[in-house]
Amino acid sequence: MPEPGELVFDAPRKGKPPVHLTDLDPGARKAAVVDLGLPGFRADQVSRQWFGRLSDDPSEWTDVPAEARTVISDALLPTLLTPIREISCDDGATVKSVWRLHDGALVESVLMRYPERVTMCVSSQAGCGMNCPFCATGQAGLTRNLSTAEIVEQVIAGARALQRGEIEGGPGRVSNVVFMGMGEPLANYRAVVAALHRLTDPAPGGLGMSARGITVSTVGLVPRIRDLAREGLPVTLAVSLHAPDDQLRDTLVPVNTRWKVGEVLDAAWEYAELTHRRVSIEYALIKDINDQRWRAELLGDLLAGHLVHVNLIPLNPTPGSAWTASRPQDERAFVRALEERGVQVTVRDTRGREIDGACGQLAATTS
Ligand code: SAH
Repeated sequence: MPEPGELVFDAPRKGKPPVHLTDLDPGARKAAVVDLGLPGFRADQVSRQWFGRLSDDPSEWTDVPAEARTVISDALLPTLLTPIREISCDDGATVKSVWRLHDGALVESVLMRYPERVTMCVSSQAGCGMNCPFCATGQAGLTRNLSTAEIVEQVIAGARALQRGEIEGGPGRVSNVVFMGMGEPLANYRAVVAALHRLTDPAPGGLGMSARGITVSTVGLVPRIRDLAREGLPVTLAVSLHAPDDQLRDTLVPVNTRWKVGEVLDAAWEYAELTHRRVSIEYALIKDINDQRWRAELLGDLLAGHLVHVNLIPLNPTPGSAWTASRPQDERAFVRALEERGVQVTVRDTRGREIDGACGQLAATTS
């Protein structure tokens, strides 16, 4: 039975994309290939090419007969993401891609290369229905949920570009994935959990990434946090808190009127207990809105003693909004108040800012 209020999060189904190999688990892939009149083991062979070698060119799949390659790629490898724009900054170490989906919806992903890792920030929905007033994505509302393949193919596209040496810094691999692009991942729960399996299952099932390198970020859909804790997938949970008190959080993260700060944090602590993973608390510092010393102290008191890390994000101002990032001295005082309470805290860097590819700036504008 859905909980009261849950229907609010059911995204429209219009524009459902065609089924893709990446949507299917290994058993379903085999069945699909058998349905095409081919031996089931061809599914594993093609999957090894797709996820293991990242090859999207059937002519390279020399272990598969030419005719079977064509049949499988025509039926199970439709083009889901068409690149319409690619913009880079930070000397090529940050690349934002704008993708058009089969129905014309636009989504964005961001690749960020650091000396010791490469992080892909992916979208889980076209638009977002959570309506947080400081977030560019939220302003346009929700278009639709992405399919599992539409999510995972963003990562595969980045992985391919890296493997081919197309990203500044030479050939490399994607080590981290963060669900911090467009959309609320836990409002598209089934597709996101299947995507987590595709990312972490070893080839031929999927990309074989470590769950430890994956972060799912949420506004705090409490029942879904509790479900995710029980999936046996030890990914990192990030909770976008942004305020320690309900009065302010009700306005910054409107879903707070449904699940309060206390309930969200209780679910987060349960997540940490069941997965043994440190929970990340996201807090965008907004000048004179949520950056007061007393709020830092209250936040520190709520978090002290838990398996938690606070990520402070200097607000990326969105067009038309009066809000801006905190003053440096207020940011420092905020950090200090948390540290004084023994709470681990870092200030997030703002990669991709000048290409509207930084936190909360993804709005899929094509101008
Ligand atoms: N819906 C999910 C994931 C998408 S946003 C969530 O809310 O967690 C990823 C992070 O960027 C969230 O913590 C979000 O609150 C933050 N964010 C959104 N807009 C921002 C902005 N303008 N400046 C800084 N951070 C922002």
